[in-house]
Amino acid sequence: MEYYSGQINRLIEELSLLPGVGSKTAQRLAFHILGMPEENVERLSKAIIDAKKNVRYCKCCFTLTDSEICPICKNPARNHKQIMVVENTRDLAAYEKTKKYEGVYHVLHGAISPMLGIGPNDIKLKELMKRLEGDVDEVIIATNSSLEGETTAMYISKLIKPTGIKVTRIASGVPVGGDLEYIDEVTLLRALEGRAEL
Ligand code: ZN
Repeated sequence: MEYYSGQINRLIEELSLLPGVGSKTAQRLAFHILGMPEENVERLSKAIIDAKKNVRYCKCCFTLTDSEICPICKNPARNHKQIMVVENTRDLAAYEKTKKYEGVYHVLHGAISPMLGIGPNDIKLKELMKRLEGDVDEVIIATNSSLEGETTAMYISKLIKPTGIKVTRIASGVPVGGDLEYIDEVTLLRALEGRAEL
């Protein structure tokens, strides 16, 4: 039984495809949008389209950005010889919020997961190794403490070891299986400061 008109249904359906949005939330959002002034709806859809059109990977660290090189990679005040490897741009943002990390990043866009069929070639690992041909003092592996994150950390450290570059892993104390972005800044900072050489 169809409760709503076709276009309302379509809006609800599209919204319910978003992560964390169940059908109830999708309905709530749909009716909220329909109740918004038209110019606000246009602003929202334009923000989505503009971001999708213009946001791309930074050519250097592969974080999501709307310029060729992201502001962190562009910043001469950052330590470009210290590279922190994270799984995604949200993890990068979590470390940036601490305002204590002065190095740069490398965003993998995923983690190795044999179970999900995600191998080393499916994440930005070749790109990391390419960067290490330059002048780098330390690689800090800050992948999540999930099975995938640990597998990735081990894999990367084995890959980097022969280059002689120092490889460290952030300290645990970060809850197992916890996504980095949900961990408070103090815990993140403690994990960073307590990092150990692999
Ligand atoms: Zn960058």
